[in-house]
Amino acid sequence: MTSQRTRERLVQRLLDQGVSNYDVLDVMRNTPRHIFLDEALSHRAYEDTALPIGFGQTLSQPYIVARMTEVLLGAAGELNKVLEVGTGSGFQTSVLAQLVKRVYSVERIRPLQEKARTRLRQLGLDNVQLRHSDGGFGWPEMGPFDGILSTAAPQVVPPELLKQLAPDGVLVIPVGGVSQELRLIVRAGDSDKFVTQILEPVKFVPLLSGTTR
Ligand code: SAH
Repeated sequence: MTSQRTRERLVQRLLDQGVSNYDVLDVMRNTPRHIFLDEALSHRAYEDTALPIGFGQTLSQPYIVARMTEVLLGAAGELNKVLEVGTGSGFQTSVLAQLVKRVYSVERIRPLQEKARTRLRQLGLDNVQLRHSDGGFGWPEMGPFDGILSTAAPQVVPPELLKQLAPDGVLVIPVGGVSQELRLIVRAGDSDKFVTQILEPVKFVPLLSGTTR
């Protein structure tokens, strides 16, 4: 189930779908996705599909994790500080943590955050800081960020996230309701201008407001 062959098959699938950043592919190959799932589902960890993690939430499909990470890396300069909105299982967090200097990740559902914390510790990733909060407000005390990646979809881009982008900072975010699109938004220098590119149709859980215990 966790064999090298199964993981190679997943990486081949990512390549077939157009993921081409070798650093990202290496991290996808070497990150144990099975530890981010409950045992009953861990045999499906290397399928290219989203999987349930409880509380009505999902661990994103490997393709979309790889794609969003590749887009972020490709559009940004040096990524010293990256904010993730929606820690969930912590899988995307751990992928980011292996590719950028520091990751800040916020989650609104406390038990998911706690599980993610245990897993990140298990992998020895000590460049991650987690917070239980509504990520629609970003993490102002830690910003500005060179990159922000949201793994939950708002109806409209939260202005706080734009505000917390560093000069030339990059926001990768799904936007919409029933139909959603993945957007790449880049801050133009240190101005208040933002350049938006629409990348592809996607399907994420909604960005909800408030927090739950
Ligand atoms: N990156 C996660 C994806 C989890 S699904 C993974 O790899 O597993 C998206 C997550 O966003 C869910 O856990 C959901 O609870 C969280 N979320 C939704 N709205 C949020 C908000 N306003 N603030 C923080 N987290 C939020």
